[in-house]
Amino acid sequence: MKDISKKANTMYLLNKYNMKASKKFGQNFIIDTNIIKRIAESANIDSRTCVIEIGPGIGALTEYLSYYACKVICYEIDERLKEVLNESLDECPNVEIIFEDFLKVDIEQKIKELRKNYEKIAVVTNLPYYITSDIIEKIVTLNQKVDSMTAMVQKEVALKLMNVKSPLSLIIQYCGQLKYCFNVSKNVFSPPPHVDSAIIHIDFKNKCDEKVYKVLKLSFQQKRKTIYNNLKNIEKITEILDECHIDERKRAEELSINDFIALSKYL
Ligand code: SAM
Repeated sequence: MKDISKKANTMYLLNKYNMKASKKFGQNFIIDTNIIKRIAESANIDSRTCVIEIGPGIGALTEYLSYYACKVICYEIDERLKEVLNESLDECPNVEIIFEDFLKVDIEQKIKELRKNYEKIAVVTNLPYYITSDIIEKIVTLNQKVDSMTAMVQKEVALKLMNVKSPLSLIIQYCGQLKYCFNVSKNVFSPPPHVDSAIIHIDFKNKCDEKVYKVLKLSFQQKRKTIYNNLKNIEKITEILDECHIDERKRAEELSINDFIALSKYL
């Protein structure tokens, strides 16, 4: 293992290729090998696993994922990193890097193909903060379910996903089990971001149900309104709420995932 994440190794690579971390792409590189090891361990991957890594950066986490997994497929938006990754990951033959914006990738199709060859598929990512929710949503709402997702997100986002009801936190609850793994200080990055981060891990048990997610999004449209007011455009909503034993004066955040599952059967 080269331990790319050692500060001296990171600086050597960035200087050699005259790379400046791009703000536009949310680049904050991890310079703490202990944190890299802990993220790789939290991902719970083994030799039967194909990892999809979003945003490998200079490959610091990738080299550890490559050590544990059968195959690692990385999606990186920044083509400037081509030369750096060629050098940093030259001892990792099971890594494939695709230079593409992950939000535009047809990942359903890719997973369908990967399923033919790999028993387990795990998504691992140290996310750029501005697309955290979009990427988590893209993975959680897949028709071709993956087995797990391990992600570095802002600490505040992780706490909200654990403790506050929202369409995303509830659909995660519907699809599987969310675990708050550990906190990550802003000081282990170069350059340091403004906020601390946390690692979350989701074990997926069920495929996302489009109707449940739709009902969740409609119900939370205006958080302060009652469930009746958010859903009043649905025909016979009073009767439907009654059938589902839901008090129409309640707000979405007062309902449980089972209430939304019940409601989705009537849509
Ligand atoms: N994984 C590296 C690490 O932990 O040191 C880098 C993490 S850095 C916070 C985020 C990485 O995601 C950057 O390499 C950035 O270029 C990449 N990225 C940003 N937006 C992306 C997108 N839409 N699709 C794929 N990669 C993206």
